[in-house]
Amino acid sequence: MAELISLIVPCYNEEPSLPYFWEQTAAVMAKMDYLDFEVIFVNDGSKDKTLEVLRSLAEADSRVKYISFSRNFGKEAAMFAGLEHAKGDYAAVMDADLQDPPALLEQMYHAVTQEGYDSAATRRVTRKGEPPIRSFFARMFYRIINKMADVEIVDGARDFRLMNRKFLNALLELKERNRFSKGLFGWVGFKTKWLEFENVERVAGETKWSFWKLFKYSIEGIVAFTTAPLTIASVMGFLMCTLALCSTVFIVVRKLIFGDPVSGWASTASIITFIGGIQLFFMGVFGQYLAKAYTEIKNRPIYIVAESNLEEDN
Ligand code: UDP
Ligand code: MG
Repeated sequence: MAELISLIVPCYNEEPSLPYFWEQTAAVMAKMDYLDFEVIFVNDGSKDKTLEVLRSLAEADSRVKYISFSRNFGKEAAMFAGLEHAKGDYAAVMDADLQDPPALLEQMYHAVTQEGYDSAATRRVTRKGEPPIRSFFARMFYRIINKMADVEIVDGARDFRLMNRKFLNALLELKERNRFSKGLFGWVGFKTKWLEFENVERVAGETKWSFWKLFKYSIEGIVAFTTAPLTIASVMGFLMCTLALCSTVFIVVRKLIFGDPVSGWASTASIITFIGGIQLFFMGVFGQYLAKAYTEIKNRPIYIVAESNLEEDN
């Protein structure tokens, strides 16, 4: 019997891109006819007719499976749901907008079966077609997180990745709620081959990531993969205390020798404001970690399924 590959496709308002996606992917599946496929679409609470499109795709082709969430849980949750339900010997995650070229699948499969890798991942070498300000902040984020985190988080890495069972099972062991896949993929280890490609613009519809959403996601990545900001806070606190101690000694000595003329209140005021600002900033940092710990501890499910055509066997 041929080996089975599970393709996992998170979809949020992808009604316009799904027909293109299916056309290209079906062609690639036909070309790789030495393999069996299942395509698991995860409808992440779309507000358009994505679910209807998925239902009709499933009706036309028995390889199509879908899981539909009760609301929008985010791409990370959608990927996790798909991976959890994948039955394949291999699983691949890909976007519905054809920004992850399905044609690369063959090369990825070759890497994991012939070249001894456990997963084949992809990274964009250009950010062509993206707003420059977004690229700038993205670059800065990767530079900062790679300085602080132990796990390498590759700049331009996509979530588009094919993995074998061993890799997939390791990934499924990580049940955290604050999921940052780019880090999780690296954290599980194993051997990964990186394939590079030029950025492709989405085929239809528009990006679901606003600047604010990306900002929150980057904070999630930092908080999930490093506690360095907490160390920075402690070190800064220590330095400030030392500085304060020295200046106290200085002031006392000066008073004993020269008396106490009232001057320099403006600089005092700005020092107080500055220190107050730093304290608030680091309280915010602590708050971030506390908030993440709080959501983990509540132990809520990562997603809730409203409808699906998967046979329930667990
Ligand atoms: N997506 C999702 N839930 C969300 C946001 C996005 O499932 O809350 C899916 C989306 O349908 C697409 C993929 O994640 O298949 C990547 O999203 P998008 O193309 O908007 O991101 P970009 O490529 O612009 O980074
Ligand atoms: Mg996209």
